[in-house]
Amino acid sequence: MSVEQRSKSSVTVIGLGPMGRAMAGAFLDAGYAVTVWNRTAGRADELVARGAERAPSAEAAVAANELVVLSLTDYDAALAVLGSAEPALAGKTVANLGSDTPERAREVAGWLAERGAGHLTGGVQVPPSGIGSPGSSAFYSGPAELFERHRAALEVLTGADYRGEDPGLAQLYYQIQMDLFWTSMVGYLHATAIAEANGIPAEDFRPYAVSTASLLPGMVEFYAPRITAGDHRGDVDRLTMALASIEHVRHTVEASGVDGALPALLAETVRRGVEAGNGGASLSTLVEQFRRA
Ligand code: NDP
Repeated sequence: MSVEQRSKSSVTVIGLGPMGRAMAGAFLDAGYAVTVWNRTAGRADELVARGAERAPSAEAAVAANELVVLSLTDYDAALAVLGSAEPALAGKTVANLGSDTPERAREVAGWLAERGAGHLTGGVQVPPSGIGSPGSSAFYSGPAELFERHRAALEVLTGADYRGEDPGLAQLYYQIQMDLFWTSMVGYLHATAIAEANGIPAEDFRPYAVSTASLLPGMVEFYAPRITAGDHRGDVDRLTMALASIEHVRHTVEASGVDGALPALLAETVRRGVEAGNGGASLSTLVEQFRRA
């Protein structure tokens, strides 16, 4: 294999939690030569049995390939690993696919640039089971030329949605998705707790939860253009209606003996909008309220 062929079809994966193991496995399935390293060496055993090469150190793993995929808990972990591999970093591209903040992504990209290495930020939107599956998706940002150079390799893992040059962008898109995801999931689990406290098993609640959750896409489509236009007219819903409804939820929660912190927070948030004089406006006016805070 020529040097050029090898650089096109080989990759290093550092960090072998559930995500990193799925990534290294997907590269192996796609025929890549894969070098792996993990702080706890035993996590590489299965991949080595499948043909991956175990590097003796993070530095050796970075030295092995031009493209270095990091799948670590956060960017502190990334800096700990990259710090120990510093002599090998010049000329490498680090695709950093762990979760952290936009600010941290910019810092780590700057830290790598000072050492002659490129940084692509990645925000993976699927669990390990979605790695290597068509239709799954990850946000990327960083230098366009670097992204294009490594796009084919990154698309072995997921679809790649390139958001722009700013290293913080991929994390920003990822974190706003996560904000929506976590609040929705916690809402679902809270509703399930109320159902179960009243003798309705999660399985019986399931079709109704699915039905309510499936309203969300239509709501997003309806409200996004209005929010863009600053149009919060209360022709479809009003903040006062939302507050009354949330109070009914709150009292149902109390009577059920379920933790009421979540609906109390919702009620307080909406009440602030009503007290500010926006009772007749749509719930969408909360975007302005959040922005001001
Ligand atoms: P973890 O977040 O548990 O990542 C664990 C990996 O990070 C392990 O390889 C661990 O090494 C390593 N690590 C942590 N701290 C250090 C350190 N200081 N020095 C060296 N290595 C360190 O598991 P996942 O694989 O699930 O997640 C990886 C990333 O992917 C996270 O940022 C996560 O948010 C993101 N992600 C995960 C998803 C999921 O469903 N799992 C979905 C989407 C994104 P060791 O084995 O030695 O402990």
